[in-house]
Amino acid sequence: MQDQFSAFCKLCECLEGCVVRQNIPMAQYTSFRTGGCARVLVEPQNVEALRNALAVAQECNIPFEVIGNGTNLLVSDDGVEAVVFRIGDALASIRRTGGTFFAEAGAPLSLLAKRSVEQGFMGLEWAAGIPGSIGGAVAMNAGAYGGEIATLLQSVSWMDPQTGAISETIPHDGAFSYRYSAFRAPECIVLSATFSLQPDDGSARMRMAEYTEKRREKQPLSFPSAGSTFKRPEGNFAGALIEQCGLKGMRIGGAQVSTLHAGFLINAGGATSSDVYALMCQVQKVVYENKGVLLEPEVHLLGNFALSAQKKGGGAK
Ligand SMILES: Cc1cc2nc3c(=O)[nH]c(=O)nc-3n(C[C@H](O)[C@H](O)[C@H](O)COP(=O)(O)OP(=O)(O)OC[C@H]3O[C@@H](n4cnc5c(N)ncnc54)[C@H](O)[C@@H]3O)c2cc1C
Repeated sequence: MQDQFSAFCKLCECLEGCVVRQNIPMAQYTSFRTGGCARVLVEPQNVEALRNALAVAQECNIPFEVIGNGTNLLVSDDGVEAVVFRIGDALASIRRTGGTFFAEAGAPLSLLAKRSVEQGFMGLEWAAGIPGSIGGAVAMNAGAYGGEIATLLQSVSWMDPQTGAISETIPHDGAFSYRYSAFRAPECIVLSATFSLQPDDGSARMRMAEYTEKRREKQPLSFPSAGSTFKRPEGNFAGALIEQCGLKGMRIGGAQVSTLHAGFLINAGGATSSDVYALMCQVQKVVYENKGVLLEPEVHLLGNFALSAQKKGGGAK
């Protein structure tokens, strides 16, 4: 594998429009601020560069991962033995035609929400405090306060990583459900999306301010986290179940169940991804034993967690 990565980097040097770096700490690219190194991190500066670098990865027979802002990711302390494509600032334009907003995958969702309200439209107010990218938001079907991406989407432009072909798709029934999307790596790479918004009836600014205030009050925003760690179980709330089990404030290493909002696992200082993972497993176990509900992680795991746990003496089972 070592040789394949070297070959990949050599070949990529000849490509225009790719920033390629080796052994990059993923803690710099995730909101948990934890995790080991990506073997190779590629930031494509345009769509063609992404297509070319994907083809080279295939040629070298090495796996790839795709990330946006890393705000819903927990990366193994052992790192990621793959080429990590980061869709970021270079692919982040936003434009509007009437009530249709176009945004590239690397654009911040919160910026699109703010711009849309500033320009007299409503629909995305709930998204103002979500720190992810458009690509990540489409891939996760991000949502809050009764709103979600899927209901506003007009179309998604995406690349098939195997062939490099680009398609424009009008989302169909079954493409989205709660925190699920058919538009997700590795099957597809979201390049951009268009959203259909309504003219503001005069209430959008107030609603956005209300939601922002709620987040400030109820979420532990001064600590690194990935937002809600677990999905909302049907008919219940993960945070409420965790709190009812007496787990608020529980710590493993530097990872802690937030004392402000039990649905958030935070990096309270010096946490490793293994700490966070072990705490996730412990919370799942206690909630299952006491409430009979198996909490499903909302956070995506990248890398090999079984290996990390083994090295630590099997802490996270
Ligand atoms: C403080 C805080 C508050 C949050 N509040 C909310 C909330 O209210 N509601 C909510 O839904 N989420 C919330 N989140 C979680 C997170 O911000 C969202 O899930 C966001 O949509 C993830 O976007 P991202 O760019 O960071 O994706 P990443 O974390 O980088 O990736 C997440 C997943 O999407 C895939 N992906 C990313 N980009 C692409 C792409 N271009 N094409 C294909 N797949 C891709 C990745 O492979 C990965 O599987 C919160 C997070 C934090 C830290």
